[in-house]
Amino acid sequence: MESHSIKTGICQIGKLMYDNKFVVATDGNISVRKDRIIFITPSGMSKGELTEPDIILTDLCGKKVSGTRKISSEFIMHQKIYETRPDIMAICHAHPINATAVSMTDSDLNEPLLQEVILTIGKICLIPYGTTGTSEIAENLVPFLSDCDAFLLANHGVLTLGRNLKEAYQKLETLEHYAEIFIKAKTLGNVRNISNINVQKLYEIRCRTKL
Ligand code: 13P
Ligand code: ZN
Repeated sequence: MESHSIKTGICQIGKLMYDNKFVVATDGNISVRKDRIIFITPSGMSKGELTEPDIILTDLCGKKVSGTRKISSEFIMHQKIYETRPDIMAICHAHPINATAVSMTDSDLNEPLLQEVILTIGKICLIPYGTTGTSEIAENLVPFLSDCDAFLLANHGVLTLGRNLKEAYQKLETLEHYAEIFIKAKTLGNVRNISNINVQKLYEIRCRTKL
């Protein structure tokens, strides 16, 4: 994929994130890796107003290759993920209302409750508290990175990973949709977990279809 279309893709996903209220003001960041280059959103800009020249290119160490704006304050978090997971080519970080609300509580979203979530996301991990814009979040992520593509960042927001940007974004949509359903179900009373045997069946389908 050309540099031009990667930048366009990031701007389009930024607009979707903003329009769907997964971010407000200048929240969130998005990146894509292509070969040894990381394309990332600038710090402190609305994700609804991004244009191609706003997107910054860095090498894998974070040295700017092109772009005039300041690199996202969460670059270290993105860099750690690309360093650890060669299969991951795109990352979305946002503060969607429902999933972020859950990130402020003792519950995580990892109970087996919704079939679609097991099929498309698999596991969801709650990452212990880390100060935004520091290496704390990257450090706290490491033990969870090997088998998880969707994360709640305690008292902060969410992070989703994909083999491409569309996949990372769709996991963000599914995670937030699930968080909304989860909160509604919890207010209704006792929720019913999917049994182990049925969870197993879903994981078998997930593996077969490589979702
Ligand atoms: P940046 O604007 O620096 O990318 O930060 C937004 C954010 O969500 C911090 O966690
Ligand atoms: Zn954030």
